[in-house]
Amino acid sequence: MSSILPPLFKRIIEFFDSFPEIGSRQALRLFFWLIKQDEKTKKKFLENINVTLSEIQFCQNCFFPSINELCNICANSHRRDDIMMIVARETDVLTLESAKVFQGKYFILGGLILPFENKSIIRERLKILESRLSTKQYKEIIIALPYTREALPTIKHLNILVKKFPKLKFTFLARGIPLGGEIEFIDPETIKLSFVERK
Ligand SMILES: [Zn+2]
Repeated sequence: MSSILPPLFKRIIEFFDSFPEIGSRQALRLFFWLIKQDEKTKKKFLENINVTLSEIQFCQNCFFPSINELCNICANSHRRDDIMMIVARETDVLTLESAKVFQGKYFILGGLILPFENKSIIRERLKILESRLSTKQYKEIIIALPYTREALPTIKHLNILVKKFPKLKFTFLARGIPLGGEIEFIDPETIKLSFVERK
């Protein structure tokens, strides 16, 4: 980072830079945008972050961010409780919902397992998933993970889980999702197809 910037500026820029998918250039832009806003906007920015973040919790059922104990999907009595779709990220839920084909509920892993990382939110959720599979009745569990190299350790882990529950019906979103495909970037029509033709 440029040496003309005072350490105080750098602290804020580095903070923005630590956000996922935000590079150092974008962090700089965000910083320069923020400081140019009027006092009201700056105050609103901080208020929104402060108030909203403190009110957000994770849905007790699927782990989607929610203001209540259950998110809007899980609190919806028209959605089926006996069909579960396992996804990696919150953004996958948004994409899948825009396809309007799935009527069950989700289970969000919170990301992908990184090799050599033993303590993570994902590993914790995988344990919760396992105990849920052994206590609740499911008609079908759909695994909707990205087909990327990064997803391999997570897929491997889920395959072990699948073998532990031979009586449960597991299906995979397969067709239409390209190799190396991230679910969140797939268009709703392709999602629909891969859902209908899951196996
Ligand atoms: Zn939920």
